[in-house]
Amino acid sequence: MKCPKCEGEFSTRYVKDVKVEECKQCHGVWFDATELEEATKEVDQDLRWMDFDLWKNQDSIDVSRGTLMCPRCNIPMAMVKYGPTEVQVDTCTNCHGIWLDKGEFEEIISALEDELSSMSEDEYWDAAMKEAWELIDGDKGFISEWRDFRTVLRFLQYRVLVENPKVQSALTALTRSSPFQ
Ligand SMILES: [Zn+2]
Ligand SMILES: [Zn+2]
Repeated sequence: MKCPKCEGEFSTRYVKDVKVEECKQCHGVWFDATELEEATKEVDQDLRWMDFDLWKNQDSIDVSRGTLMCPRCNIPMAMVKYGPTEVQVDTCTNCHGIWLDKGEFEEIISALEDELSSMSEDEYWDAAMKEAWELIDGDKGFISEWRDFRTVLRFLQYRVLVENPKVQSALTALTRSSPFQ
């Protein structure tokens, strides 16, 4: 594979445990299909439960504006807003790999953290309910889902619980009931 931006050579690099390809010249980074999501969640555990499925919302994918070629498939990539952020990234509609220019990974992390801290109470509740449902129904495995659920609960606590002491004691009891502390 060659860099889609400057045709430089790639070298393998790790973002925590996730193996990615970085261009030796322009320092852009190539993430295969789910690697960017994994890397993001490795860097900030609080982002674990956020919804990153780029392909669910097809409307946000703008194929016409892509200028780079996928280094794996050699077809033009599309521009897409990454998850709930405003950061535009290049992605391949075939292999779902994602190209980030130098600095865009950091931009995504801070945009996601902003998004997380600016969510409304209702959005936290929706997320909590969704995670609770996935605990029962999910395919990620119970322990992983439980951790996601607890993360959401922690954010709910920041946001709501100061004003709702009764809810707080109910949630405290609930999180204590888990064997995975
Ligand atoms: Zn490059
Ligand atoms: Zn591709």
